[in-house]
Amino acid sequence: MSECIFCKIANRLSGSDAEYHFEDDQISAFDDINPQAPIHILIVPKRHIPTIADIVDSDTELLGRMVRVASELAKSHHLNENGYRLVFNVKDHGGQVVDHIHLHLLGGRQLGKMNNN
Ligand code: 5GP
Ligand code: ZN
Repeated sequence: MSECIFCKIANRLSGSDAEYHFEDDQISAFDDINPQAPIHILIVPKRHIPTIADIVDSDTELLGRMVRVASELAKSHHLNENGYRLVFNVKDHGGQVVDHIHLHLLGGRQLGKMNNN
């Protein structure tokens, strides 16, 4: 079995008590264990793809679905009025820690402007 933690959580193969917000045959969405904002949800494909640098043309629909799931979760968490942030961290310089692609949905507070990072 894969040792990848997000393969396990997304496919419900771990004893993780993460709260799930969405699931279909391709995608899971669950709370980040170390939230950086009042709403911090990870949208994660069930299939193992290490980084955004690895995606190919045939992944385009999956990535689009991940963004669509994020936008629906933002709406259901009442983030549409004030807004939110969607982030893919990519490899070391991008701050990626877990090598299984995941889209961060962050909201519920004022986030820093990009040029402050
Ligand atoms: P990255 O820095 O790779 O973009 O983000 C990884 C995120 O995964 C971090 O925000 C971290 O808090 C979260 N994370 C790491 N391990 C676990 C885990 O076991 N469960 C959950 N729910 N989130 C995790
Ligand atoms: Zn994985």
